[in-house]
Amino acid sequence: MDGYTVLRVIGEGSFGRVLLVQQESSNRMFAMKEIRLPKSFSGTQNSRKEAVLLAKMKHPNIVAFEESFEAEGHLYIAMEYCDGGDLMQKIKHQKGKLFPEDKILHWFAQLCLGVNHIHKKHVLHRDIKSKNIFLTQNGKVKLGDFGSARLLSNPMAFACTYVGTPYYVPPEIWENMPYNNKSDIWSLGCILYELCTLKHPFQANSWKSLILKICHGSLSPLPSHYSYELQHLIKQMFKRNPSHRPSTTTLLSRGTLARLIQKCLTPEIITEYGEQVLEETRKSKHSTPRKKADSSRIRIALEKEASTVQREEQGRKCSHPDLERINENSVASALRRINREEKVGESVHPRRASPPSAVRRQWEKGAPTAALAALEDTALLTSSSSAEEGRGVTQVNEIDFSRE
Ligand code: ADP
Ligand code: MG
Repeated sequence: MDGYTVLRVIGEGSFGRVLLVQQESSNRMFAMKEIRLPKSFSGTQNSRKEAVLLAKMKHPNIVAFEESFEAEGHLYIAMEYCDGGDLMQKIKHQKGKLFPEDKILHWFAQLCLGVNHIHKKHVLHRDIKSKNIFLTQNGKVKLGDFGSARLLSNPMAFACTYVGTPYYVPPEIWENMPYNNKSDIWSLGCILYELCTLKHPFQANSWKSLILKICHGSLSPLPSHYSYELQHLIKQMFKRNPSHRPSTTTLLSRGTLARLIQKCLTPEIITEYGEQVLEETRKSKHSTPRKKADSSRIRIALEKEASTVQREEQGRKCSHPDLERINENSVASALRRINREEKVGESVHPRRASPPSAVRRQWEKGAPTAALAALEDTALLTSSSSAEEGRGVTQVNEIDFSRE
């Protein structure tokens, strides 16, 4: 790692580590993700995609990419160092003391701006969780971790694989539906709920119970001092049918969030959104939370972009590296694997991927029977009672839904 001095390790994962480093030429600090490169050419190519994707993103609420290079069998990604740690740590440090609503909304608005940016670029994050959201000491929120261990663990499973953390996995995934931009919205809803309660919205002792809770959307209400608007926002994001969930554009152009983003708009965002978003947020200043916001050209344009993501996903056969869909993914077989491997206390890795089917299944009502039949009463290794994902849970919290 020529040109950088390693200061300390700030994160570790199945892929390798994240180091705090100092660039010798500038004395600037960076977070350096060190990823062990797989031996195969295709594996190496897949590993590089994390860097390629991150490099494409330029937004104040996305961790900034500095450079990437390879040395001694590793891929290094130098990125902006977020000195406030990750959101999971922050929640844990609260020790049960709830965050004030204005702080929650301020963080959440920034997160929505970041996700809006990636959706506009037709990228789905697919692993939005508190551990992948980084903070700075000056109150900025940045979405990070654009790669995933699953790309590295089995490149063959890349095209049709979804990697996620069970607590954040939306119902459509358990029900064999493709992942789309609204699936990221579900995960965003989980984050908002966690910020309000310091707990995962859906908690259970077994996979079966977790899936049922997610698919039925059974949620404990927020602490009563939070506003109706916040409760309403969460309810919208947890709509079971993905198409009924708001896009980030809709979220950002209504109510409190619209008013808030005016405050955190930087020149960069203003350029990106254009005058029309400002107009939209100005308008929403005068609207009541429950009132439907007026449609504006910018919102429609941005909504169109978001739905294009979805349409393109439906139309393509896992050919776009940024938009692989989980098409006909065999949840049942994936879960059987989880079941098997959980018993030996190992994390789950994908095996091989079959070509996806072009047919998109219709939305089906009812419980995800295949997943449930496969799971029976398999216990989660640990069920965390708080949003903390440490200890046992981390051993199984990365699920790969790949076809067998
Ligand atoms: P993984 O693929 O293992 O989830 P991440 O990119 O999420 O890897 O990094 C793992 C951990 O390292 C994060 O949860 C966070 O605590 C820390 N980390 C990663 N990138 C940064 C960064 N840019 N600034 C500060 N901490 C970071
Ligand atoms: Mg991560």
